[in-house]
Amino acid sequence: MQPVPASTRTPTRFRLLTGGRVVTPEGVLSPGWIRVAGNLIDAVGPGAATPPLPPGLPVTDLRGHWVLPGFVDMHVHGGGGASFTAGPADDARRAAEFHRGHGSTTIVASLVTAPLAGLEARAAMLAGLAGQGVIAGIHLEGPFLSAARCGAQDPRHMLAPDVAAFERLHTAAAGHLRVITIAPELPGAADLIKAAARAGVTAAVGHTDATADLTSAAIDAGATHATHLFNGMRPLHHREPGPVGPLLDRDEVTCEVIADGVHLHDTVIRLAARAAGPGRLVLITDAMAAAGMPDGSYRLGSMRVDVAGGVALLAGGGEPGTAGAGAGTAGAIAGSTATMADVVRHAVAAGLPVTTVAAAASTTPARVLGLGDRTGALRAGLDADLVVCDEEFRPRAVMRQGDWLDGTPENP
Ligand SMILES: [Zn+2]
Repeated sequence: MQPVPASTRTPTRFRLLTGGRVVTPEGVLSPGWIRVAGNLIDAVGPGAATPPLPPGLPVTDLRGHWVLPGFVDMHVHGGGGASFTAGPADDARRAAEFHRGHGSTTIVASLVTAPLAGLEARAAMLAGLAGQGVIAGIHLEGPFLSAARCGAQDPRHMLAPDVAAFERLHTAAAGHLRVITIAPELPGAADLIKAAARAGVTAAVGHTDATADLTSAAIDAGATHATHLFNGMRPLHHREPGPVGPLLDRDEVTCEVIADGVHLHDTVIRLAARAAGPGRLVLITDAMAAAGMPDGSYRLGSMRVDVAGGVALLAGGGEPGTAGAGAGTAGAIAGSTATMADVVRHAVAAGLPVTTVAAAASTTPARVLGLGDRTGALRAGLDADLVVCDEEFRPRAVMRQGDWLDGTPENP
């Protein structure tokens, strides 16, 4: 994601993508065309014809395909058998590469609750990868979470909100910490939310048993995002709407949903999309290492996860030799095995308009991350990040910053 200095740029290379159904913020161009200049989108237009073309301009015929903006996954723990939460930097590279191949041209690596020193070390390692453009930043999903709503996370390492601890993590992340999930009912949460907001880090509400009033107070303090709405939080009740009510109700809050067909009923996906309205819904994978892998036994942080039929459930217990009995919620859904292409396909099948889906998969998360002037839409001036899908929304080609990834149209 590092900009290339002008002095090292090669002469601008143009290419034209034509004939596909192009999903823009203003609507679907059916067909439409996209002209790419170097690593940027140079122009986008409707119809089959385009302005006079330079001779020798490479043209890619995308008839019968959808063209979507590259997906922005702001909540993902791993994929392709590799993880951001454990293992060497090469594993994290492999996880990012796996998700890029499925359309996620922008990835924020999510860490789960772990001992503070361990989290600092992971944040420092991931910051190095962010500096190299492998990932676009870091999301801390812990350790300031509620043990009552720990889901697949290890409650033994959860801490009360602590601004000094946050500063250590923020320093370790070297400017690449983008999001931190906080349970607002914990003592000191408001101060932590304010500290995060002051530092330019998005404060998200999640893994929480808070009431509606406590959640509203967190939003007043500066929380602007919901970590996987509905999952890992007290359910919505009509007299005590819990975190879900205010998070959906308040215009300044963007709401993540895991639209994988496992975490939420399709009715709830549609309700959330309607309630959030344009610009507030964010599709995420929350994927763990098992995404793209066969059923079996995997890890999420310190926790063991069994995957059967593509559904990841916490096996219970922690590291061998520790007081693991009773840690976590055995049987809890433990992240997903989905890719962004999977959740996009599922959201469309659930009945969301394709423009809503593209906004939720790309435009809105890019804006939340402060990257809206770089990526997240098929619009002139932005990075040429796009996903070519077939009629059933299966990804067929991925372009990142003007380059087709391996195995796609110009690199068969
Ligand atoms: Zn997560």
